[in-house]
Amino acid sequence: MIKLKGSGVCSGIVIGRIAYIDRSAPDVRMVRADDPAVEMKRVEEAKAVARAQLSELYEKTLEDVGEESAQIFNIQRMMLDDQDYNNAVKNIITADKLNAEYAVAVTADNFEMMLSSMQDDYMRARSADVRDLSDRLIRCLNGKAQAENSFSGERIICAFDLTPSETVQMDKSNVLAMVTAVGSSVSHAAILAKTMGIPAVVGVGRKLSSEYNGELAAVDGTDGVIYIDPDENTLAELEAKHKEELKHREIVKKLKGRSTATRDGRKINLYANIGGVSDVEAVIANDAEGIGLFRSEFLYMEGKTLPSEEVQFAAYKKVIEAMDGKRVIVRTMDIGADKKTDCLDLEPEENPAMGYRAIRICLNNGDIFKTQLRALYRASAYGKLAIMFPMIISAGEIRTAKYFVDEVRSELRAEGIPFDENVEIGIMIETPAAAVISDILANEVDFFSIGTNDLTQYTLAIDRQNPVLEEFYDPYHPALKRMIKTVIDNAHAAGIWVGICGELGSDPHMTDWLIKAGIDEISVSPSMVLEIRGRISETEASI
Ligand code: PEP
Ligand code: MG
Repeated sequence: MIKLKGSGVCSGIVIGRIAYIDRSAPDVRMVRADDPAVEMKRVEEAKAVARAQLSELYEKTLEDVGEESAQIFNIQRMMLDDQDYNNAVKNIITADKLNAEYAVAVTADNFEMMLSSMQDDYMRARSADVRDLSDRLIRCLNGKAQAENSFSGERIICAFDLTPSETVQMDKSNVLAMVTAVGSSVSHAAILAKTMGIPAVVGVGRKLSSEYNGELAAVDGTDGVIYIDPDENTLAELEAKHKEELKHREIVKKLKGRSTATRDGRKINLYANIGGVSDVEAVIANDAEGIGLFRSEFLYMEGKTLPSEEVQFAAYKKVIEAMDGKRVIVRTMDIGADKKTDCLDLEPEENPAMGYRAIRICLNNGDIFKTQLRALYRASAYGKLAIMFPMIISAGEIRTAKYFVDEVRSELRAEGIPFDENVEIGIMIETPAAAVISDILANEVDFFSIGTNDLTQYTLAIDRQNPVLEEFYDPYHPALKRMIKTVIDNAHAAGIWVGICGELGSDPHMTDWLIKAGIDEISVSPSMVLEIRGRISETEASI
């Protein structure tokens, strides 16, 4: 048995087989091929396998995510038959008498370089497709295609690391747990796993590798451990712990349908955080009273082009309608740091967490921002929408953002498109600057939502992505508590309400403190709603 310890992100105990996602680029060596016909036959066979895989991926993405994202695989399937690409591969095999893998790799390099230097945005975006497709073809040639296909059925997904977009695109019904070698518990991939309610462990170390693909393992998401090839004793202990957890869950389930209030009767709005439309099911199943944070940026991470107004409108409308009149707070696009997208042509940065991101991109690109605001306002006609802006550091930013809001409202009015005139506008308080001047910012908005994930990283100067710093990432630091208290007091002094949507809100150890500090709303991962409702009901609001 091998025991690897990391940080538990989402509780739960599961046993199953490992599917290791190997994202490393395939290893290619140049080998002399005396019989080009043999190599050409191998290429044709690999293309047939790749074609079948791409068709399967197209169908799956179409069903799970939608047509726009699924098209990526259609485009790659067409590229497989591109004459120039195929001629280039053939040339290297027949004229230079070299192996198929090498011919594909060199062709990929040349096409990638040529496409990425083009002026046309669409063609430039295709360079990533050529690379993706060629890597697939090489994996098919060297027999590694099997590993990728072995994800069917329920599996414990293991990887060196997972990006937020990989996490969000996973087929939840087949994922028993997620375990990564690196990664921190407040990274977005980890937060998404929690939102989806999937037991998850991050940072178990580099011993977790592809050699364990297919092995039996047990994951303890509560203590943050993966046991590979677990022995009898361990399985028995985990079984007992699993039963205890189920018992606790049954007790907590009884809080469904109850209103959320402290022991002395103070009402607290208990909401849930989501990453996409598919998470709403868990929000409703766990009886959240609203959505406190819809991370809309994931809509920008699904495809290679910007989500259109129609695509966004459909997503927001679906969520708002499903919540049936309960408040839905959508945060405008917060791309940046670990949340990367192919659909914005952003330069690589030395320090992306403190880089060109979120509201900074929106205010510089009015067309992109207004597309999102139009979609949001159109969707507001279907329920109770609130909008908030991320990464705010000044009152000027809020005023500029509201200028775009006013423009959109005027346009919709002129076009006769209905929308809610009373959509609340708020901001995330997730930079120390915003917390310190929250008395000034409170005059500009209807509400605050405290984002403790980033507020912790920026206040303590600790990169939330870096697992080495996990022991120093202290969300209970007195500097943070002081800031949170100041923000709450400043909000109330200005007559606005204030919530928390960072992970600290999901921490049962902090519930009592937050309530006594005066918080009005707490937004947590869907799987934590009932647990926190229980905590709130045990708390006295008065000090
Ligand atoms: C936060 O920073 O606390 C937050 C809720 O936003 P995100 O985790 O998406 O950065
Ligand atoms: Mg944040």
